[in-house]
Amino acid sequence: MELVWQDSKCIICLEQAKLTEEHVIPASLGGRLTCRFLCASCNSYLGHAIEGNAKSDPTIQLLGSRLASKIPQLAKALMDGQPHISLGPGGESRGRIVNGEFLVQSEKLSDGSLIQPTSVATKSLRRMLEQEKLDPSALTDALQMFQIAPDNIRIRLTENIEAVKWSIHGYRPALDGPLLNPVAPLKMAYEFLALHLNTSIYDSAPCLMATREALRGEPMDLTQLKVERLSAPEAKPIHGLLLESSEPYTMVQIRLMGQLAFRVHFQTLSVGGPRGIYTHDLASDQEFVAQAA
Ligand SMILES: [Zn+2]
Repeated sequence: MELVWQDSKCIICLEQAKLTEEHVIPASLGGRLTCRFLCASCNSYLGHAIEGNAKSDPTIQLLGSRLASKIPQLAKALMDGQPHISLGPGGESRGRIVNGEFLVQSEKLSDGSLIQPTSVATKSLRRMLEQEKLDPSALTDALQMFQIAPDNIRIRLTENIEAVKWSIHGYRPALDGPLLNPVAPLKMAYEFLALHLNTSIYDSAPCLMATREALRGEPMDLTQLKVERLSAPEAKPIHGLLLESSEPYTMVQIRLMGQLAFRVHFQTLSVGGPRGIYTHDLASDQEFVAQAA
């Protein structure tokens, strides 16, 4: 769904500019709602500095893996590039998911042995064998032996080199990434507010000014703004935005995958008129807009 905006002034820096398309809920989290509210510079700052590693948030990682059967494509995209821990007979190892496969992180252990993905290990092994100055046929034999080695059995390749090809039987997200920057939900809430305020979003009300400053990298003015991070009871394949209340002041609630919730308090701002609800069903990819009761 695309939100149509008639003005040509960026809602953050208030400069006249060519406004660029962006996602209200980050595309990296499966967000579909797009708008043209921001100049290229504000858009790029928020996209890189604030939302760049949104999917590394441990709760988002956990929800992605919990909802994988309902939203397989998004779950796969959320895992991609993220740290995971493999489980197998060799114990737990840290690595990353790359194109749907677990790639163990190269590591040198205290006993001098190396842990590497098989493809990298093959190259390392060739280098080590070359250093051992084996004759060419012995080198080929050793590489061949490594190639056909069964999993989980230690084999001796030369007098000095042993190898084990550990299999894994699963992996889980490492869940140690950074939490989503609170400025990210503030941005989503502010853009959602723009739909209710139209060009009044440009006003110089202290709360709106404080929001624009925070969205440009200034510290958040806690007398005007508060971002609460909450947990709703149930994980669901749904993203949502809701203008929760406009009295005594405005609160916008953001739900990511049903469960990760943010409540953004615009503590001195009151917004009249109807309040909107936006939902995006991630399983069917349908979007809905309704009016809050
Ligand atoms: Zn701007």
